[in-house]
Amino acid sequence: MIIDAHAHIFPDIIAEKASKGISTFYEGMKMDGCGTVSELLEKGDKAGVDRYIVQSVATVPTQVVAINNFITESVKSHPDKLVGFGALHPDFEDINGETERIISLGLRGIKLHSDFQDFNIDDEKAFPIYEAAEGRLPILFHVGDPRSDRSSPERLLNVVKRFPKLTVIGAHFAGWSMWDTGAELFDHSGVYVDCSSSLYAMSPEHAAELIRKIGVHRVMWGTDYPMWNASEELARFAKLPLTERERELVLGENARRLLGEL
Ligand SMILES: [Zn+2]
Repeated sequence: MIIDAHAHIFPDIIAEKASKGISTFYEGMKMDGCGTVSELLEKGDKAGVDRYIVQSVATVPTQVVAINNFITESVKSHPDKLVGFGALHPDFEDINGETERIISLGLRGIKLHSDFQDFNIDDEKAFPIYEAAEGRLPILFHVGDPRSDRSSPERLLNVVKRFPKLTVIGAHFAGWSMWDTGAELFDHSGVYVDCSSSLYAMSPEHAAELIRKIGVHRVMWGTDYPMWNASEELARFAKLPLTERERELVLGENARRLLGEL
């Protein structure tokens, strides 16, 4: 089974604008797609993806409820394909209540992107989210940006130490553009990572080395759609010098174990 462990989706009406916003934030990095559910499924199905973990970031607190409703509706429309993660924001007034609602809606995790949400990963104001999620929902963190340390791997490590029962997924090898730092800090730490938006920037040998350093049971494949599409990311992944067993784990089995049967 192939699971895309990192895909962004947006309501059709704002998808193009939202995708352009991400592209602008990452200094014109080209986006493969426009971020609609239908395009994600069309491209992914063609490439052989079986399941997609979908999420969206609440850049302001007032978006939280609408995003969680949108992700839930999307999952309901494609229950055999989509697994949803909810959104939260440190400035949202009822973090506990919304965490309960996320769970009752059947969403399976939380996505945070502190660069977009304007906080440091280890800010105390984010602790209520970590307390509410600890032992209940994994949190997928965007990690790493050379222009700011808001989402640095070091700050994520502070959270991991302070909330030992929190299940943490560090996107982009837990250190976008600082890939070796992420692997160094989270070397067999129990933290999960995904290898989305990373393989383009390194040799296949380097990627395989990072996967083994973090631990082959802790790495999940993902596209960061609409940044990349499934065919090109699977082609990049196929070049990694991994064993068949290691491939199975990264492509789907690790995500299944983390989230329960998908
Ligand atoms: Zn993301």
